[in-house]
Amino acid sequence: MTSSKDSSWVMNLPAFDTKPKASGYDVVIIGGATMAANTAWFLASNPDFKGRVLIVDPDPTFAKAQTGASNNCMRQQFANPINVRIGQFAAEFVKNFRANLGGDPAVPDLSIRSFGYLYLSDTPALTEVLKRDQAVQAANGAGTRMVSAAEIVALYPFYKLDDIAAGSLNTRDEGYYNAPLMVEWLIRKSLERGVDYIRNRVTAIGREGDRVTSVTLASGEVIAAGHVVNAAGTRAGQVAAMAGLKLDIQPKRRYTYVFRAKRPLDRDLPLTIDPTGVHFRQFGDDYLIGCPPMGPDDTMAPDDFAAEEGIWERKLHPIVSNRIPQFKEVEIVDFWMGHYDYNTFDYNVVIGPHDQVRNFHFTNGSSGHGSQQGPAVGRGVAEQIIYGGFKSMDLTPFLHARFAKGERVVERAVI
Ligand SMILES: Cc1cc2nc3c(=O)[nH]c(=O)nc-3n(C[C@H](O)[C@H](O)[C@H](O)COP(=O)(O)OP(=O)(O)OC[C@H]3O[C@@H](n4cnc5c(N)ncnc54)[C@H](O)[C@@H]3O)c2cc1C
Repeated sequence: MTSSKDSSWVMNLPAFDTKPKASGYDVVIIGGATMAANTAWFLASNPDFKGRVLIVDPDPTFAKAQTGASNNCMRQQFANPINVRIGQFAAEFVKNFRANLGGDPAVPDLSIRSFGYLYLSDTPALTEVLKRDQAVQAANGAGTRMVSAAEIVALYPFYKLDDIAAGSLNTRDEGYYNAPLMVEWLIRKSLERGVDYIRNRVTAIGREGDRVTSVTLASGEVIAAGHVVNAAGTRAGQVAAMAGLKLDIQPKRRYTYVFRAKRPLDRDLPLTIDPTGVHFRQFGDDYLIGCPPMGPDDTMAPDDFAAEEGIWERKLHPIVSNRIPQFKEVEIVDFWMGHYDYNTFDYNVVIGPHDQVRNFHFTNGSSGHGSQQGPAVGRGVAEQIIYGGFKSMDLTPFLHARFAKGERVVERAVI
């Protein structure tokens, strides 16, 4: 089956010029989607920042970017305490979006459809992992609780759970939010505050010793840069290499189907992480289901969106209709595929300045949770540029320097 469209949504932004207004900027952001929008906003809205910012992206529709393929959910059910807190900041940022963007009534009110995330376990070993993670999450203020199969069925009678031992559930600030609208308004408000955005591609980065100095555009212009931010998603490794730096980010395929049930459920379906690795959830009045490839989780070229045949028939429908028998009769209404920017070192975001080339900054490798991590990452990178360190949230363990030290900060709870 081929994708019915390139992405899950359409971006409503002005038509950007290809030419920059200036020959030099204090900050040049390479890539113009989620991470760029957040970084630009947290720079432009900080009264201590007086510089000029340029965002460069060849395709501000984000049709082939992760941002365009995202399932747009947030959660706090992570194994790593920092990721729990990043999820909490995402929830606060979204729930108070208009106020956080300065109170302009034109900015939409955003909310979270908190149908929750439900992790299901079918083995004692997995139950132990969920228990450990639940303790970390609870200690950091998340609303996660362990639930038995009987408790799950009492809350959601539509599941068939004969093989399930337990689950972990949080319905507080976990679920869907309108991430596309968030990104769109972060960009709009950054433009209002003087950020420049061009439709172009960076093809080279100038470097002198331990500083990057410029970017070269596909159209030939060389733009002087005080700081360079790598927000190039699945191409982040290529962009780092332009500055002579190593970053191992691998594009990995993830499929998304939307289906309509002949008999819809009588209550919201939590984002359910089945022990098979398939996940499904409420999607408006329909349902969304996502998964990795059936075969090996190969690293793809960033522009290779070839899909395996038979994913729905052979994998997804059997799994979801086994778990929820009411889903035996459904029809597919949409399908798309995107790439995660996978950090195979420890499945966690790489953020902040390079330890030697200190004016080159990373925002990469969220491994499938970067929509929700955007606000914390953007704020952290902005603080690094303005103050030379993190102020609001200590993200030090996620610095690029961990690669050289061999210090993995593993995030187990990657979907
Ligand atoms: C199927 C799927 C489902 C997901 N679901 C969720 C979810 O539910 N919750 C969640 O939090 N996260 C989710 N994610 C992850 C999330 O979408 C990403 O982490 C996030 O969008 C990353 O944003 P980004 O700005 O870093 O990268 P991207 O959105 O990939 O954008 C990178 C941009 O860089 C540009 N670029 C690349 N090279 C250059 C260059 N040389 N010059 C200029 N520009 C360049 C590209 O054109 C692109 O627009 C999902 C991802 C996928 C694929």
